[in-house]
Amino acid sequence: MNLERAAKRLGINLQRLQSLQETIIKTSSWPEPRLLRFEKEASGVEAGTVIFESGEVVFGYPKIRRAMMLAPALEKHFPDTLAVEEKMNGHNVRITSVDGEVIALTRGGFVCPYSSEVARKILPEGIFDADPDLVLCGEMVGPENPYVPKSIYPTDTIDFYLFDLACKNSKKTLGVHKTHQFADEHRVKSTALLGEFHKDRAAEKIKRTIKQLGRRGREGVVIKDPENKVPALKYTSSEANCNDLAFAFRYYNDYALDFFISRAVREGFQSVEWLETPDERKARALRLGESILMPLVETIEKKQAGENIVQKVQIRVRSLQTAREFEFHLRRSGIRAIFGSPEPIDDGYLIRISKLIMSTNDKTQALLEGEMW
Ligand code: ATP
Ligand code: MG
Repeated sequence: MNLERAAKRLGINLQRLQSLQETIIKTSSWPEPRLLRFEKEASGVEAGTVIFESGEVVFGYPKIRRAMMLAPALEKHFPDTLAVEEKMNGHNVRITSVDGEVIALTRGGFVCPYSSEVARKILPEGIFDADPDLVLCGEMVGPENPYVPKSIYPTDTIDFYLFDLACKNSKKTLGVHKTHQFADEHRVKSTALLGEFHKDRAAEKIKRTIKQLGRRGREGVVIKDPENKVPALKYTSSEANCNDLAFAFRYYNDYALDFFISRAVREGFQSVEWLETPDERKARALRLGESILMPLVETIEKKQAGENIVQKVQIRVRSLQTAREFEFHLRRSGIRAIFGSPEPIDDGYLIRISKLIMSTNDKTQALLEGEMW
């Protein structure tokens, strides 16, 4: 492992880098290529940053902060104009090429065997030929996304949408215009660019956009400085907030309290900022309430009927090796899952997976038997 080179690229000294090893920096030897990954942020290096054997670095994708009160947040944060992109709801991948192999890194800096196979299938052959240092940052979405399955996008399996470009060994990303230009030239799908506005007019435009997106079950927007002068912000639809809540209440004992509170609070701010009529506010309250109660009732009744609380997802793989590797990958990420026997399909296999939601399962059983909270 060429740590000296990596340290220089990370902008920290070698001793510091070595002292972080095995505490914050973890080794991942599998699947190939071997790498070191920052499990947490340290010395200004983003979590999810990886170092390859050669000492090459792929920086973690930066955290995106959330606007709660849109108009003042935009006014305060952006210098002048801003670009609005759709925020897609799936999982973040950084796709790059290492020794000629295309790999997809997860947010945490693992090579995901399934996402890597998907990337190889979807991306045009030779996309990294001209520049092997390129890193494609984007979202994998669709019903066969085993992390965040969603049937709201135009795919019946899984697809990739580019939203940023980076280069190995460089912290900065290339920004909105270069990203969309690259996507056009290479015929790669990219997250929709919904418009560019001056910050004074943007809040009103975004409000309208968010309402439309929400009606289509879409998540929201990411608001970016076209010149990359300041970091991006995110803002989501009420429908997306409520969908998250419904999901989390279905598995209520497996989520941290903050997940619930932050989403409920967003609804309060949006309702106030948008000066809702009493009827609109009632509709929001109903949506919010239903997203809490309905999934709870379903979970409790399911357990009462003797069923286990599981989340069913599925993937489509070309090789059984990928499925086996993905099984291992989930296990090492701390997710317990049962893989069904592979069902042969046209160009590979369909694998049904049941993710065990242990804590909610056991808690619900105990409460039904009269245990105290
Ligand atoms: P974060 O720490 O980045 O906020 P999070 O897990 O809370 O992580 P999200 O709330 O989903 O993530 O918001 C950020 C994520 O949104 C990005 O990491 C990226 O995967 C995803 N995303 C979807 N569409 C876009 C887009 N157009 N531009 C940038 N990121 C996008
Ligand atoms: Mg997301």
